[in-house]
Amino acid sequence: MIHMHVGEAKRVSIAVDEMLAKAEEVLQRVWGYSSFRPLQQEAVLSALLGRDSVVVLPTGGGKSVCFQVPALCLDGLAVVVSPLISLMKDQVDALQANGVDAAFINSSQSLEAQREIASRIREGRLKLLYVAPERLLTDRMLDFLRSIKVSLFAIDEAHCISDWGHDFRPEYRGLRVLKERFSNIPVHAYTATAPEHVRRDIVRQLGLVDAEVLVGSFDRPNLVYRMLPIDNRLQQIIEVVKRHPEQSGIVYCISRKEVERTAGALNSLGIKAVPYHAGLDDQSRRRHQEAFIRDEVDIVVATVAFGMGIDKPDVRYVIHAGMPKSIEHYQQESGRAGRDGLESECVLLYSGGDILTWKRMLDPLEPSARERALRALSSINNLCNGALCRHRSLSAYFGQDLGVDNCGACDVCLGELDQVEDPITLGQKILSCVLRLDQRFGADYTAKVLVGANDRRILQAGHDQLSTYGLLKDEPLAAIRQWIEQLIGQQFLMREGEYQLLRVSPTGARLLKRELTPILTVPPKRTAAPRRTIAENQSWEGVDRGLFERLKELRNREAQLRGVPAYVIFLDTTLRELARVRPSSLSVFRRIKGMGDQKLKDYGQLFLDGLDAYCATQPLTRDVLTPVQPGTSGPSATSPPGQSAPNLSAAAVSSFEYWRQGMTIEAVATKMGRATSTVFGYLTDFIHFEGITDPSPWVPAESIPIITAALKASEDGRLKPIFEALEGKYSYEAIRLVKLCSRDEAIKHE
Ligand code: ADP
Ligand code: ZN
Repeated sequence: MIHMHVGEAKRVSIAVDEMLAKAEEVLQRVWGYSSFRPLQQEAVLSALLGRDSVVVLPTGGGKSVCFQVPALCLDGLAVVVSPLISLMKDQVDALQANGVDAAFINSSQSLEAQREIASRIREGRLKLLYVAPERLLTDRMLDFLRSIKVSLFAIDEAHCISDWGHDFRPEYRGLRVLKERFSNIPVHAYTATAPEHVRRDIVRQLGLVDAEVLVGSFDRPNLVYRMLPIDNRLQQIIEVVKRHPEQSGIVYCISRKEVERTAGALNSLGIKAVPYHAGLDDQSRRRHQEAFIRDEVDIVVATVAFGMGIDKPDVRYVIHAGMPKSIEHYQQESGRAGRDGLESECVLLYSGGDILTWKRMLDPLEPSARERALRALSSINNLCNGALCRHRSLSAYFGQDLGVDNCGACDVCLGELDQVEDPITLGQKILSCVLRLDQRFGADYTAKVLVGANDRRILQAGHDQLSTYGLLKDEPLAAIRQWIEQLIGQQFLMREGEYQLLRVSPTGARLLKRELTPILTVPPKRTAAPRRTIAENQSWEGVDRGLFERLKELRNREAQLRGVPAYVIFLDTTLRELARVRPSSLSVFRRIKGMGDQKLKDYGQLFLDGLDAYCATQPLTRDVLTPVQPGTSGPSATSPPGQSAPNLSAAAVSSFEYWRQGMTIEAVATKMGRATSTVFGYLTDFIHFEGITDPSPWVPAESIPIITAALKASEDGRLKPIFEALEGKYSYEAIRLVKLCSRDEAIKHE
């Protein structure tokens, strides 16, 4: 603890304000971003103040800015340690496109190129140097760095230093010499995935001194998660691909063989996809990866070997055609979608068969490692079968509370999983069958008893005499099997021992007493198109799609000309904003997010001409600088009719008539033969898209003013605190409906 006089403290705080103002000016001038994101500001400040730090931000959270901005504000050279050449190249490309003098150094470069970089450093021009750890740690390099002024060391993918993490790299271990040899230069560590114990290990391994540890939210709100049991794998993959024409996507498979098979099948159906796995030679791998980055091919089908070196920001979907190994792996792999912050889809297809495949692959491991791997596998299996909000479950796994009740961005919250009518009774039936079997059988056997199968083993054991034999004879075996998984996922049942025998847990005992309700879903109907999320509709709000496409062509042509990936020129977010604002002058152009000085100079006029040409043929307003107002939906006045109209499911639309008649949620649920949770989703659509402002048909009139007052009093509109402030007297549903109906609330918070 440092003690200061009041005057001194004041001086420090003024100095801090000045530093931050400078950092913001750089962010605006170079990157074209108007403000820092949560935690970026703290991370930047700790770098500016020269304090060691560990920064954990999810993929796409904006870690690079945390050290790149300070690198430009401080004197000297920032040295960035990065594990892979392709990552370095991407970052250096992007920095150069923003007019920043940056370079990477590696063994593939000629001596001359390296000498040239060294002289840029000596002249004090180069601001950022990217280097791999093994290269950095050579005596020559360390001696060189001693002879110049280094502003900071930034260590990317810092979890690689810890063998407790999921991606240990021994060469990272040597990095502790940095603090030993350069004790007065701050070291900053950045990573997307580091639970508490790994963070502590990073501090220890690097020998950081009084490090500031900053941990962001693990949630990725722009990702829509869907987890579906496999019924026809290829068909399910194709459905997702078709939702994203001409967009980049990754399909992950467990084995090389499946990669080849899936890529082949897609190609034979006319969907262009390239395979990627460790069995391909270096050259093919590089070629396929390059084709993907350059948008020459939309889809990569890959084993998990793919992705570590990929920073492509506009991957719009990630499909897991098989179960990932663990929740950490899932978070990382699915996290490759939507780095640019635009809505993207993550679909996980799972099956019991995949679990068996993994188990077989784990066989050769030594017992303790195998045990750990099996636990990780069962966590992800439970997540899939949990049928609880996916965002919430993922956050909870990483020890964070999501804080919202309905995420609006997963299959569960979007009401795409239809629940069975009476889950308590169904759950009781299954649990009592487990008890009747003396908790001495596995899931498959139990399901067969419940369906009343004519199985030799069952008959021999006399289990056809049990009262629970054939108790669910009208249900498909696969559905029963799924419910058992869901009951395990929700901790009503446990699997025990080598033979994975089912046991009723204490939670299960409470279900038997009808004290708790499980979530049990009916198998998804294949024809039901997934619903578009509200966020997705909002991000297109006011965007002229035709213009967006035109600008995209322009960008892609320019990218080809310059031999760089398209996203290095402009991200899709920037193009969308251009197509929404439609600047008519360079000064308005400058106000577009992502438009730094250098890009304005390089591409401003070109895109302005493109805009002029397009707008000359269309009656479009220009310079629409008002921000999008989320929540106030409906097709924008300037878009061609129909084009940006929200895409609702047919079922939702067919419910609108009932809502208009003022029918209650229960009545509509009965009428449509769907769960109340499902039709509640339809009702929110109705309110949203028809601009309804009066919730009284669905919320008791006397409660509306009370809930409204609580909403007004709330700082951020999060439902849970409001629910608690109202002492649980009003349901989440009621609060949500009132909130939806009060437009200004929607603008403020949604
Ligand atoms: P990470 O390394 O954490 O995965 P990146 O540094 O690649 O994330 O940033 C993700 C995306 O967010 C990039 O497109 C980046 O330009 C953008 N970004 C970063 N900071 C901001 C900001 N303050 N405002 C707007 N966009 C930002
Ligand atoms: Zn959810």
